[in-house]
Amino acid sequence: MKLIGMLGGMSWESTAEYYRLANEIVRGRVGGLASARILLHSVDFAEVERMQAAGDWDASGRLLAEAARGLERGGAELLVLCTNTMHKVADAITAATDVPFVHIADVTAAAVRAAGMQRVGLLATGYTMEQPFLRDRLESRGLSVIVPEAADRAEVHRIIYDELCVGQISEPSRAVYRDVIRRLVDAGAEGIILGCTEIELLVGPDDSPVPVFPTTRLHVEAAIAAAL
Ligand code: GLU
Repeated sequence: MKLIGMLGGMSWESTAEYYRLANEIVRGRVGGLASARILLHSVDFAEVERMQAAGDWDASGRLLAEAARGLERGGAELLVLCTNTMHKVADAITAATDVPFVHIADVTAAAVRAAGMQRVGLLATGYTMEQPFLRDRLESRGLSVIVPEAADRAEVHRIIYDELCVGQISEPSRAVYRDVIRRLVDAGAEGIILGCTEIELLVGPDDSPVPVFPTTRLHVEAAIAAAL
């Protein structure tokens, strides 16, 4: 089994899910006492969030590239960046190491296409919904991506940072997400990408009239498939 290098802590609420799911999937596939081989570099998310808010993506790219180099020195044979948003600096990471990088958008696009869908709604941070880095990659793989309107985007973003990243799961916020999903479906979405790694802590298939694509789970499944 290959050693998976995880760049996590963004936030640790979702990285804990990566860790749990990776081990569950290996146990399911291999059986017995088998568990995932993982090397984790978990950052201080407060530092990364300050760089995001300041628009200093070069600094966060340098920080994550340095962390990735450490994982490579530690023997990582695959790299998994446990956040959609920070895939904005994926190129800085891949340029810094020779370790294969499991890109979250590629994995997600493959799952959507395998489900026979093309037009999807994207729920994510404001950065991911409003900037092209993830959407373009999804669209280059055959998807057509729609995002919520501005007021909905602001609320989806706020709930991620103010609640989900600090471990708060609330029924009113679940209702907000359900409403936003409904509006994306009304706008033609055949499926919904849960394009922030904390969102599947709040909503799942039961909260959507169309299939959902949970990026944390899909990312972990792809990493384990590559590791085994
Ligand atoms: N984990 C989130 C994501 O997948 C948001 C936190 C971050 O900015 O990294 O986008």
